[in-house]
Amino acid sequence: VKPERAAKVEQDDPPSDIKITHRDRVIFPDSGQTKGDLADYYAQVAPVMLAHLARRPVSLVRCPQGRAKKCFFQKHDSGSFGESVHHVSIAEKSGKKQPYLYVDSAEGLLSCVQMGSIEFHAWACHQEAVEQPDRMIFDLDPDEELDFADVKRAARDLEKHLADMGLVSFAMLTGGKGVHVLVPLRTGHDWDTHKDFASRFAEALSKAEPDRFTATMSKAKRKGKIFIDWLRNQRGATAVVPYSARAREGAPVAIPVTWAELADMETAAAFTISDAAELLKRAGSAGLQGWGFADQALPEL
Ligand code: ATP
Ligand code: MN
Ligand code: MN
Repeated sequence: VKPERAAKVEQDDPPSDIKITHRDRVIFPDSGQTKGDLADYYAQVAPVMLAHLARRPVSLVRCPQGRAKKCFFQKHDSGSFGESVHHVSIAEKSGKKQPYLYVDSAEGLLSCVQMGSIEFHAWACHQEAVEQPDRMIFDLDPDEELDFADVKRAARDLEKHLADMGLVSFAMLTGGKGVHVLVPLRTGHDWDTHKDFASRFAEALSKAEPDRFTATMSKAKRKGKIFIDWLRNQRGATAVVPYSARAREGAPVAIPVTWAELADMETAAAFTISDAAELLKRAGSAGLQGWGFADQALPEL
């Protein structure tokens, strides 16, 4: 085999040392995609997804029999995922240490898929520095009666308020109902400082526009409003990772969008696991290169 031929084969083939069993098992019954389709999706988007996920403690939404059957949210495990899924020992609130998971390769992603995982959710820190958060996420959760246009307008308002404080932010469609506004940050503050900043920011917006926003989780208080979920920013919380599939109808995915693109989006579930090629192309486009990254420090609030 000539060297250039060998290199080409390696590039085109998804990572092959992870065995995916039951490739034909339908795990998205409404749209028909199988476990094999999901594995192929993750193999393709691995390079762009890992830029956001690698070495962050990760929790998984596992649905071994597909999304329509029982799913569970898994935070730790002591070794059943194989050697490409790594462990980091983290003390929980109770003081008890638990083996959390992290991945840093396509093989790691695929091992999780082999174990029935559909969604990947990450901490706002890296495994080697779990007490040093490096981003903030405002998870916009609309009341059911609101339109996606209301969510878009809210995201844009957050972007402006953050910009007023000198902070660059990025928009992600969750693949579900809402938008996440991501603020990358230099490390240097602890979880309590991040949580305090996030809660006061959300509180200030809801005080200024109580008809549009609430900073309180209760569904009753959300009537006709958008809950600015700042609780993603406390120690132990997770948020769905860019390019993660969602265990929801139609196999949607969470995707980065530019602020300009957001204006034209009609739903938070605009792309699915069948769109890997297009998502890769988008990720390489001028507007999305560098999405999610900015060298900036948390200001005083
Ligand atoms: P949507 O746009 O539909 O709201 P979302 O990903 O923001 O999608 P939320 O219900 O707002 O969904 O959840 C916010 C985050 O809470 C999730 O991204 C996830 O990381 C975390 N989460 C979800 N389920 C659990 C669970 N069972 N236990 C702990 N955390 C969870
Ligand atoms: Mn949400
Ligand atoms: Mn939420």
